[in-house]
Amino acid sequence: MPVTTPDELGALDHGHAEEDLAMRDSVRSLVDEVVRPHLSAWFTEGHLPARDLARQFGELGVLGMHLDGYGCAGASASAYGLVCTEIEAADSGVRSLVSVQGSLAMHALHTYGSEEQRQEWLPPMARGERVGCFGLTEADHGSDPVQMATRARRDGRDWVLDGSKMWITNGSIADVAVIWARTDDGIGGFVVPTDTPGFSARDVPRKLSLRASVTSEIVLDGVRLPAEAALPGAAGLRAPLACLTQARLGIVFGSMGAARDSLIQAIDYALTREQFGSPIAAYQLTQAKLADSTADYVTGMLFAAHLARLADAGTLTPQQVSLGKLTNVRRALDIARRCRTILGANGITADYSPMRHAANLETVLTYEGTTEMHTLVVGQALTGHPAFR
Ligand code: FAD
Repeated sequence: MPVTTPDELGALDHGHAEEDLAMRDSVRSLVDEVVRPHLSAWFTEGHLPARDLARQFGELGVLGMHLDGYGCAGASASAYGLVCTEIEAADSGVRSLVSVQGSLAMHALHTYGSEEQRQEWLPPMARGERVGCFGLTEADHGSDPVQMATRARRDGRDWVLDGSKMWITNGSIADVAVIWARTDDGIGGFVVPTDTPGFSARDVPRKLSLRASVTSEIVLDGVRLPAEAALPGAAGLRAPLACLTQARLGIVFGSMGAARDSLIQAIDYALTREQFGSPIAAYQLTQAKLADSTADYVTGMLFAAHLARLADAGTLTPQQVSLGKLTNVRRALDIARRCRTILGANGITADYSPMRHAANLETVLTYEGTTEMHTLVVGQALTGHPAFR
């Protein structure tokens, strides 16, 4: 164990509410007990017992914890962020399960759904008895979803959906899919029970990243839904983008969890691994890697905490979240790679976490807005010039 942990050195608990730290500690215990021991196997086998885990996270009150009512805890953004840090310290794939359920699917239902939709779906989703997914991306339309090809057309009072969605987390295990589709009046959101005829999902094979996560293609072939399936409050692309802003705050924190875990493993390893007659921790080059990584980690956590306080005050802007995602995911990837080098050859196996985290963070760099998209958002905020096209 480190003599002083990076968290202790940065006094990172300072300023957080006792109840938020208590929630974090409960999640840490659950993760240590039911997730961490299995990760190496899940990742190498490309498997995640997502429904079991959803139930366990639901029992702890983690799913949709930042939402109010309908069985949700109404916790602060800071508490939610700390929880994401703990879960992603285990694996980004497990954090994705929780983020997609709470910040994307449940958030969309909570913010844009009718009272009936909320009553039907949110309480069982908060308990983890029902799993949701969020279908925005298509194979040919990722960074520019406004071009989406999936259509929802009226047939009498019904809606009929045709198209496909790609890279959808939880897609093949979900009970309900929040699907974004083009209508005659612009982009709208639809609540699609996954047992509706015409809905099918199959998992993306041969992933090298986020292997402990379900990632699926969804096909919508004449999916007929009642008029009440539309999300009444969702008008245009702003609705799914607002859900993504919520979820990105979880990434700003979560990515630092992956970084912290890499760092702790590297320190532990460096203290016990001897070369040239001394622990490699005693060499200056190793200490430089650990010090640089700790500086990046502490800075990332402090920025995350600052953004969460802005969210709790109701003033957080999408541009600030972009800045946070951009910088923290890059930081986390640098830390995971640097820590992997400290583990030498052992570091390339699934027995240690840094390379698994680095592989996962390649996805985190890409999903919920790529690094390039967030760079352009920040560039526009600074200059006033949109450089997207
Ligand atoms: P593209 O948009 O094709 O981009 C390719 C490259 O071109 C990127 O580097 C991009 O930054 C760059 N680029 C594009 N436009 C520009 C430009 N104007 N200027 C400069 N560079 C540009 N989506 C969902 O809807 N729901 C999910 O649950 C979900 N889960 C995911 C899980 C995983 C494991 C993965 C890998 C993805 C997931 N996604 C999900 C999709 C993800 O959000 C998209 O992959 C992402 O938005 C990027 O889209 P793309 O892959 O089509 O890349």
